[in-house]
Parts: sequence; structure tokens; C-alpha cells
Amino acid sequence: MNIQPIIKKDGPIVIAGPCSAESEQQVMDTAKALAKQNIDLFRAGIWKPRTRPNSFEGVGTIGLKWLKQVKQETGLKTTTEVAKTMHVFEALKYGVDVLWLGARTTVNPFAVQEVADALKGVDIPVLVKNPINPDLKLWMGAIERIYNAGITRIGVIHRGFSFFGDSNYRNVPRWQIPIDLKSQFPDIQIICDNSHICGRRDTLQAVAQKAFDLNFDGVMTEVHPNPDEAWSDAKQQITPDRFQELMNAIVLRQTSTDSAAFHNSMEHLRSEINELDSELWDLLGRRMAVADRIGTYKRDNNIAILQEHRWQEILGAALGKAGKTGLSEDFITNVYKAIHQESIDRQESVMNAS
Ligand code: PEP
Ligand code: MN
Repeated sequence: MNIQPIIKKDGPIVIAGPCSAESEQQVMDTAKALAKQNIDLFRAGIWKPRTRPNSFEGVGTIGLKWLKQVKQETGLKTTTEVAKTMHVFEALKYGVDVLWLGARTTVNPFAVQEVADALKGVDIPVLVKNPINPDLKLWMGAIERIYNAGITRIGVIHRGFSFFGDSNYRNVPRWQIPIDLKSQFPDIQIICDNSHICGRRDTLQAVAQKAFDLNFDGVMTEVHPNPDEAWSDAKQQITPDRFQELMNAIVLRQTSTDSAAFHNSMEHLRSEINELDSELWDLLGRRMAVADRIGTYKRDNNIAILQEHRWQEILGAALGKAGKTGLSEDFITNVYKAIHQESIDRQESVMNAS
């Protein structure tokens, strides 16, 4: 695959604008304020995929006239979400510069293919948001469908994943998934949509910084002149002034250095990590071998695999060590759940071996 940048630039790619276009005034006010900040792309949703009906579903085609006006009056390039053929044709007709596929579209190969078919023979950059669920292959598949339609300028937007349970995030980031995507498509530019990851204003800065620390290529943030009054995603939108403060506070770190001293120290630290990792894997292997023996013993005595009180007991004991080890409770729980699951799988195969 020969994927090209959606925007050629040394510094970070900055995409900002309201969740939804609401009125000519709101669109123009936001764009004029953002044009002063040298952003790369002005975003606004024209058709909004809403989880439940009877929510605001976007202004539709009239909003494309406002985006055209943004371009004419501020010089800013524009981007909007497309989910079906009609959206693609209308957006192209009004000169939208970059298209994006939303999380609810990426999740559906039929919809992605419909957009890809509508794009055949068109040369326009396309950004593919991650699917709602944490499925790397679905994300890759959407990129491939767009690429197979002849689009070469493709980027991705990481907007987090839906989850079950409590979290400080609206959509949990699961950073390893975009990192894995980057190893599958090394040339693809990755943009962090901190707005949909956070779902609130106070954590936007930290998530954007984290993305840059992970070598992401840019951010997409929802900006509204009067966030509390926004017709969609009010809680996560920020004013243009606040957005400027956020971007000014971002620290960009180098991706590499020629310093020999740095490489030397890194080598030492990395070999320490490698040794510890190798011990970790040995230990885990030994632990699983004991799980196999437990599986055999339970099978011979006809006892069920999952012993809920035992699981609560060992998890509790591990969490009790959080203070001493300096590990967070979240981390301990996640690692332990993975170990426990593997242990159950192993016992299951021992029990059901014929
Ligand atoms: C949006 O960008 O406003 C949007 C609807 O995002 P997502 O597809 O990530 O939910
Ligand atoms: Mn939104």
C-alpha cells in the first residue's frame, strides 16, 4: 500500500470546529476565531449520526453552504463526516476539502463500501475514525476499502472505544490499538479526537498531550463559540480561546536524537527492561503450568472451573499491594483479569481434553 499524507506538514496537524454546524452565524463565528490560530482544517458535522432518534440530526445540505462560505471568507479548508452516497456527492459539490468516516460508519462494512464506491475516481483526502468497538481489523478493513477505491491520501482518527462499566472517559482510548494500527500502516497519519475520548472539558489537555507523546500527527477538537448552548456534545466542546490555550500548552517532544550519551543510557535501561520482561514471561509460564495441574485435579473431582470467592480473594490480595508496588489499581485489575482469563482457558482445555 502506498498511503500518502492527508496534509504535508512538519508540525502537528490541527483540526478544530464545532461538533455540528447549527447556523450560519455559529459556523462563521467559530471559523473566524479559529482562522486566527492557523489551524489546518475546519470541522463541522452536517449530518449527525445520533444514538437515539429525535435528537438533533444535523442541519443537512444548507450547512455545506456555510462551509463554503468559511473557505471563501477565511481561507480555511473544511472537513465533514460522510456516511452514504448522497453525503459524498453533496460534500463534493460544495467543495469540502477532506471527508471523514465516523465511528458508526467504520463499524459497518456495507456503509464503508457504499462511501468507497461513491469515491471512485475522486481525489480527496479521507480520514477514517476508529470503529465504536475495539476491533483493529474492522478499522483496517475500512482503510482498505477506501484505499481500494483509489483514494491514496488516507489518515485515521482515534476517538476511543465504547466499553462496559465505569470510566472517566466517554470512549476509552485503549492506546495500544492505534499503536497497533500504526505498525500495520506505518505511513498513515494519526489524529487524536480528544473531544470524543474525553466527553468533558477538563481532561482534553492531558489526552491531547498523551497523543503527542505517543507521536500522533495531530488533534481534532470540538470548538464552539458558546459550548454550553451547543446542539450536540455540549459537555465536551470548548471556546476558541480555550482551544488556543490548550494548543499553546502542548509540549512537542523530539522523536529521536543523535546524542550518544542518550543512546547509551537508553540501552542500559532497555536491557534492564528486557531482563525483567523475560522473568515475567517465565513466571507467567510457570503459573499457567500450575493452572493446568489445577484443571486436571478439578476434572478428576468433577469441580467447576470458576470459583468466584477465590477470584475475589486473589484480586483483593493483589490490590492490597497497590501501595507497596506503586502500581495503579486499574493496572493491577486489568493485568489480573487477563491472567485469570488465560488460566480459565487453560483449565477448560485440560478439562475438556478427550
Ligand atoms: C463527531 O465527530 O462529531 C462524531 C459524531 O464522532 P464519532 O463518529 O467519533 O462519534
Ligand atoms: Mn461530536
